[in-house]
Amino acid sequence: RNIQKKLFIRLFSQENFTCGVSTTTSPLNAHYKHYIKLPLPEDKILATYIWIDGSGIAMRSKDRILEEIPYDLSMVPKWAFDGSSTGQAKTNNSDTHLIPSAIYKDPFRKSPHVIVLCETYNGDGSPTLTNHRAHCAKIMSKLSDQEPWFGIEQEYTMFDSDLWPLGWPKVRGYPVTKSQYSYCGVGEHIAGRDLVECHTRACVYSGMNFGGTNAEVMKGSWEFQIGTTSGIKAADDLWVGRYLLNRIAEHFGVIISYHPKPMGKEHPGIGCHHNFSTEKMRSDEGIKEIERVCKILCEKHKTTIKNYGLGDGDENKKRLTGKFETASFDTCRWGIADRGASIRLTRSVATEHKGYLEDRRPAGDCDPYRVCALIAETCL
Ligand code: ADP
Ligand code: MN
Ligand code: MN
Ligand code: MN
Ligand code: MN
Repeated sequence: RNIQKKLFIRLFSQENFTCGVSTTTSPLNAHYKHYIKLPLPEDKILATYIWIDGSGIAMRSKDRILEEIPYDLSMVPKWAFDGSSTGQAKTNNSDTHLIPSAIYKDPFRKSPHVIVLCETYNGDGSPTLTNHRAHCAKIMSKLSDQEPWFGIEQEYTMFDSDLWPLGWPKVRGYPVTKSQYSYCGVGEHIAGRDLVECHTRACVYSGMNFGGTNAEVMKGSWEFQIGTTSGIKAADDLWVGRYLLNRIAEHFGVIISYHPKPMGKEHPGIGCHHNFSTEKMRSDEGIKEIERVCKILCEKHKTTIKNYGLGDGDENKKRLTGKFETASFDTCRWGIADRGASIRLTRSVATEHKGYLEDRRPAGDCDPYRVCALIAETCL
């Protein structure tokens, strides 16, 4: 149990063995099917408020009945929760506020029920330590005349309930298949496609700007993409995408990890590439602006890299080794079509002299609000 506990803390960055992640299977039995079909009065809307907890990566949610369908944020009441149970407040000052910031259709209960993404604030009105959205929203509104676009690629790993990657041989066995067959692979080279299919459909249904999915280099790991979308919506959508993924994984008895190097140095890492462009970059000779931004991003590398992963970004060191299509943690360089660079420009940037940049440094467990804000700041 001790070994399991250590593994759990490493993978999910949480001290509490049972907290935050559900491993129960939904009771898809006759009783469940009865209750789920009970017709509800038309003026009762179920709203699931979701937020990022004090760990900075796990999410929490609680439900509330609304009296009318919320068409915009002003129709969703503010709410509060016990921050001392989520690592966000002390017991003697525990009321933490939920401020609705985006509404999505609920793919579990279906429309008109909703999911409400919230920011968290302390009793004194300041953002909680893991509320990085507040700052990001300010940066995005300053930059709005430059029309910033983001596309985010979220990689993740599926673990079985025994905390071993899905599809890997039991009794601590390693995949026989070479990892080069798993990327976009089929058949025995991949695992967990049914879960991915459910997640794709739930995300598209919810109204987020979902871009696509693919199986990743390590067996049992996958990627989904958000965007291309403008301003803060990409980061909002990414967090809702994570929430839906963790919820759907409950049905499968699977645990989702965003850890940047879950299986040690012999196996591929888990990243969260951030693609970015402004109107200027997308216009003729935008390559000049792209190169200007790349230069600033690399100059600031040493001070900003700690914002590219959970907490102080330390675990990302294990991933950014120069191996498995990554650059080293200690240096920053950019290059065209170079997957070993920190920041990659697609080949089309070289041929068309315009386009976007791909910051490949963020870890799978980064907060996209922190990363998007830092990238966007280079244009202010
Ligand atoms: P790869 O795995 O080769 O890096 P993906 O297709 O997984 O490519 O991801 C490409 C990402 O780039 C997508 O998230 C997409 O939204 C984003 N993207 C494409 N064009 C732009 C653009 N002009 N500005 C910002 N992001 C973009
Ligand atoms: Mn209570
Ligand atoms: Mn990708
Ligand atoms: Mn990828
Ligand atoms: Mn990429």
